[in-house]
Amino acid sequence: MAALSPLAAIRERIARSAEIARRKAEDVTLVAVSKTHPAEAILQLIREGQRVFGENRVQEADAKWPALQEAYPDVELHLVGQLQSNKAEDAVRRFDCIHSLDRPSLLTALARAMDKLGRRVPLFVQVNIGAEEQKGGCAIIDLPALLTEARTADLPVIGLMCVPPAGIEAAPFFALLAKLADDHGLPSRSMGMSEDFETAVMLGATHVRVGSALFGTRG
Ligand SMILES: *Cc1c(COP(=O)(O)O)cnc(C)c1O
Repeated sequence: MAALSPLAAIRERIARSAEIARRKAEDVTLVAVSKTHPAEAILQLIREGQRVFGENRVQEADAKWPALQEAYPDVELHLVGQLQSNKAEDAVRRFDCIHSLDRPSLLTALARAMDKLGRRVPLFVQVNIGAEEQKGGCAIIDLPALLTEARTADLPVIGLMCVPPAGIEAAPFFALLAKLADDHGLPSRSMGMSEDFETAVMLGATHVRVGSALFGTRG
């Protein structure tokens, strides 16, 4: 039997984890995080059928993606990294989904950019789920106010996103993010990366963000 490609292997692991949790594999979107990897590596996955990609920097995406987006208009590009308010307009122009809304100043900048460009881009609110000092993400205690503000500004928030603390079991953090999303009636949860996406799928992830397990480790 031929070895599975990395993409096929990840898809199979997602399907198996979904089955264990009695979920449907098609309710889990695989976001292929292509940061630092060249267009040729992305093209290879597109040719294999992958349609959702993630980048963590606006500038890198602006350099790498215009030709790819023109050639493959059905490909979705997600921003998974922290976003500076002064890049909000570039981000709204380039990306089809933004996973990193985490503070009022960015909310204001995104609302202004979406109004100006006449383009509503679905958003995840990133939550600092492990209450880590240096980490991006909204504090859990600030989440209700930020969601209210987003609703007032008519921003399409579809779910919550997190990056749990490194080096410890991620499951409790995924469970907490899922509960917060439930509490606020948000249908989508962006959680799980190369090391822990199966756990995330079992705990209700709708979007897993997988980089190195698909593209190889970054140089
Ligand atoms: C790089 C990155 C990922 C993918 O990480 P891997 O461990 O390579 O799978 C996921 N989410 C965010 C926010 C990232 O910056």
